[in-house]
Amino acid sequence: MISLNDMPRVRINFLPTPLVELKRLSSFLGGPRIFIKRDDLTGVALGGNKTRKLEFLLGEAISQKCDSVIACGGMQSNLCRQTAGAAAVAGLKCHLALGGTQPPFADSNLLLDYLLGATIHWSGEYSKGERLPELAAELRASGLKPYVITYGGSTAVGALGFVAAISELKEQLQAENLDLDYLFLPSSSGGTHAGMTIGMDINNLSTKVVGISIDRSEPGEPPYESELAELANQTAAKLEFDRRYTPADFAMNYDYFGEGYEVVSDAIREAVYLTARQEGILLDPIYTGRTMAGLIDMIRKKVFTSSNTVLLWHTGGIPAIFRFARDLNA
Ligand SMILES: *Cc1c(COP(=O)(O)O)cnc(C)c1O
Repeated sequence: MISLNDMPRVRINFLPTPLVELKRLSSFLGGPRIFIKRDDLTGVALGGNKTRKLEFLLGEAISQKCDSVIACGGMQSNLCRQTAGAAAVAGLKCHLALGGTQPPFADSNLLLDYLLGATIHWSGEYSKGERLPELAAELRASGLKPYVITYGGSTAVGALGFVAAISELKEQLQAENLDLDYLFLPSSSGGTHAGMTIGMDINNLSTKVVGISIDRSEPGEPPYESELAELANQTAAKLEFDRRYTPADFAMNYDYFGEGYEVVSDAIREAVYLTARQEGILLDPIYTGRTMAGLIDMIRKKVFTSSNTVLLWHTGGIPAIFRFARDLNA
């Protein structure tokens, strides 16, 4: 197997991120021991899970002597904001292909994209990278050498960030003499989930990794689990880790999709308020708030015993708190 230390990487994060026990929330809910992994504190431009992927993505960009990066997403993409921040740290130019058209006034992630020096290319209905090859060709014609980051940064290279993150978690668990029964994460483009699953296997941990669906009401066609398996196989191959993944290796829970992506339900609002008031920790209403709402519901339905240990991976998304101010007002 190839060591992660031999992969090109730029160290832009403040690691390890804190592993914190939520004692007050746990006693309030009368539930299992609850831990949180604070990737909202990775350190680059308000933090989040994407900067772990970006350590390896930008590492590859630099090893290929690229001078710029291109990323894509919706107008309020967390990946794009974190790419703009990471590119600034690494000294690369950042181009973003964002869905929609230029609004009269930039706020939240879009404001930060501008502030961090990214060049925005408005892409209308194309927010998932449909126009990336075209944009890359334009930039090449203008003399740049761009590195292209595909949707969500969920490639085999990006997922390495979360293989590494599980080794980091294992060290923290060992130092605290802890075993984790479950790890819950918001799962959307798959790089985080696939990387973590491989990380558990490489580190011989038996923690069950469960993805909470953020933007799908069901697996879809092809099923999301088979996309996860394919990405995990590509990532394992990159590391020459001898293990084949199948869709059955990935646990996804679609029960908390509710009224849909970016719809802030009462349960999500309650999860955001409870975590803020019991623990002083801010969750975003789109990803981590939905995941915590799911965890709280499972605790109330007695899915866990009181001696179970569960972890919520805080993947960031903080700027959405301000964008959804209207929905979060009590
Ligand atoms: C992108 C994102 C996720 C989902 O990660 P994937 O690797 O795309 O599945 C979760 N939470 C936040 C805050 C994100 O920005």
